[in-house]
Amino acid sequence: MPLLLKGSCRCGAVKFQVQSHTPVPYQLCYCSICRKQQGGGGYAINLAANSATLAVEGAEHLGLYRAALLDDERPHCEISTGERRFCRECGSALWLYDPTWPELVHPFASAIDSDLPVAPSRVHLMLKYKANWIEPDIRKEDLAFELYPSESIAEWHRRNGMWVD
Ligand SMILES: [Zn+2]
Repeated sequence: MPLLLKGSCRCGAVKFQVQSHTPVPYQLCYCSICRKQQGGGGYAINLAANSATLAVEGAEHLGLYRAALLDDERPHCEISTGERRFCRECGSALWLYDPTWPELVHPFASAIDSDLPVAPSRVHLMLKYKANWIEPDIRKEDLAFELYPSESIAEWHRRNGMWVD
């Protein structure tokens, strides 16, 4: 059975649950969108779950943010296809859904109330865009990337024996 992740915003107006085969909070994203919207430590931790199983209570409180992308990789401003959801009452960032990969939804680990497995190692990504004052805590078993890793969240879980069937 996939792991049932239960999450909520800080004020409780929005509650959600979703099933995940890939619940390890190992992926630390330092991009400007993640860290500004969600990442008090300089990064956000994104999980992956099965979008078809997402159930939301209080959906009328959800806000939608689609980031404008303008950086070295996208020199002409684009609107991200990613749909970032947050609570309009308290501002908690909740999850990202991208119709480019419609079977997945990416809850922020910070919004999850259930216990998550502890990551045996971490992947640091988008370090090119980290804030200057962040000194990433890259441990010897960690991987670090200026942009995106080539390995998907699913591949990482399988390689580490942490895929939840
Ligand atoms: Zn809220």
